[in-house]
Amino acid sequence: TGKFFVGGNWKCNGTKDSVSKLVADLNDAKMENNVDVVVAPPFIYIDQVNNSLTDHIDISAQNCWVGKGGAFTGEISAEQLIDMGCKWVILGHSERRHIIGEDDQFIGKKAAYALSQNLKVIACIGEKLEEREAGKTFDVCFRQMQAFADSITSWENVVIAYEPVWAIGTGKVATPEQAQEVHVAVRDWIKKNISAEVASSTRIIYGGSVNGSNCSELAKQEDIDGFLVGGASLKGPEFATIVNSVT
Ligand code: 13P
Repeated sequence: TGKFFVGGNWKCNGTKDSVSKLVADLNDAKMENNVDVVVAPPFIYIDQVNNSLTDHIDISAQNCWVGKGGAFTGEISAEQLIDMGCKWVILGHSERRHIIGEDDQFIGKKAAYALSQNLKVIACIGEKLEEREAGKTFDVCFRQMQAFADSITSWENVVIAYEPVWAIGTGKVATPEQAQEVHVAVRDWIKKNISAEVASSTRIIYGGSVNGSNCSELAKQEDIDGFLVGGASLKGPEFATIVNSVT
């Protein structure tokens, strides 16, 4: 299913100095060149990263405004991200859904607007622990997918990230079987509700406590087309190990 895709989501971490060191480490690291590699710094460091990172890694934002810019204090628009050299934006991350309170429809609209401005989208979905324990994993993921599908008309520039909330930042990575099970179900949902073509061409990547030691087993799974990495993406050599887990 397309090229292996590895994204590094730096979240709200870093200083000018630590960003400069991380970029230097990424520039030094040996990474397979048949992988799409993307890093997502905080907005304020995007320019610094864009000016210092080597060409083969693309830049993503971690969020963006839902429409055209204007009187929206504190927001950053898709047009501005393009202007700063971003190619991608992460939307619907669980921290924005569950800590900031963004809902499915709002996230769907953001995705449609970002795509209309030629930003590519990493569309995140995933269930909370209590939802998994209540047997609602598929319901939640399908509901979140439906909201994206209600707004998105072309899927060419979309990567789906399955990130179970209980696995994010907890060190409790999903087992390869657990992740594969959801990836297959999501792909099947896409086939039934969007098209067989989109189902076979769209990359579904896994996120949640991925690190240099667990990435290879996960990468072997048929429907895991890459990773979205948080904590381990702040360490250049470990991030490169994850990129190089491509099979
Ligand atoms: P961790 O890799 O730190 O668990 O974070 C995953 C994540 O949220 C990536 O978007």
